[in-house]
Amino acid sequence: MIHFVGAGCGAADLITVRGRRLIEEADVIIYAGSLVNPELLSWKKEDCAVFNSAEMTLEEIIAVMKQAELDRKTTVRLHTGDPSIYGAVREQMDLLDEAGIEYDCCPGVSSLCGAAAALKMEYTLPDVAQSVVITRAAGRTPVPERESIRSFAEHRTTMVLFLSAGLLEKAAAELMSGGYDADTPAAIVYKASWPDEKTVICTVATMAECAREHQIRKTALIIVGDAVAQSGYRRSDLYRPGFATEFRPAKE
Ligand code: SAH
Repeated sequence: MIHFVGAGCGAADLITVRGRRLIEEADVIIYAGSLVNPELLSWKKEDCAVFNSAEMTLEEIIAVMKQAELDRKTTVRLHTGDPSIYGAVREQMDLLDEAGIEYDCCPGVSSLCGAAAALKMEYTLPDVAQSVVITRAAGRTPVPERESIRSFAEHRTTMVLFLSAGLLEKAAAELMSGGYDADTPAAIVYKASWPDEKTVICTVATMAECAREHQIRKTALIIVGDAVAQSGYRRSDLYRPGFATEFRPAKE
């Protein structure tokens, strides 16, 4: 059995209780060494074999999984944050399907959530933004043209850019040409939940310069949109005294 496990975005105690148990029980762990906190490996069994996927190809990863299956061992594949977001998990699952190997998934705290926590921010404020666009700048991995930052910018809702800290000049130009005003608030969150976490508040126009100033080139999320200012919203109906719900009568 292979368990795909979300390690969380940094701090070791952000992994789920289930994820920790799977690590404690694993015979083989393949972890994404570039971003998974090595502290998580301190919970492994003494004789657990550990592989760093940062140094491996897809084929090598699958070969380790296949050998573990032959040896009737349990494997944990540890991914940073949540495996479903830029995790490159589908290609592994397809090869496991081909080999007839069973697997399941244990979710994790994505840096999407870790960054909001670092900023003490709510992405979805009534009257300000009710949607979150999760995307990336096109780099070595291309992005389909219909999903360009410019085209999403038209919505001017909250946008979270992954994998883009090194491409901010181009991203900012697209954000502005697409619809965000130059002074739209933006935030850069570096290494959310790690001891060296940094948050920088800037604007769409200044974000590239701010990242440079703080020497942030990777492991950062860029959050764009009026919601970053955390003001100008309408309070919720759900907790308004006059609003009756299934669980509470109106209290006015
Ligand atoms: N599956 C991961 C994302 C993997 S892609 C998740 O759910 O978070 C790797 C990118 O995620 C990085 O380039 C960076 O943009 C972002 N990232 C990962 N960990 C981060 C962290 N602790 N703080 C800020 N951004 C992070």
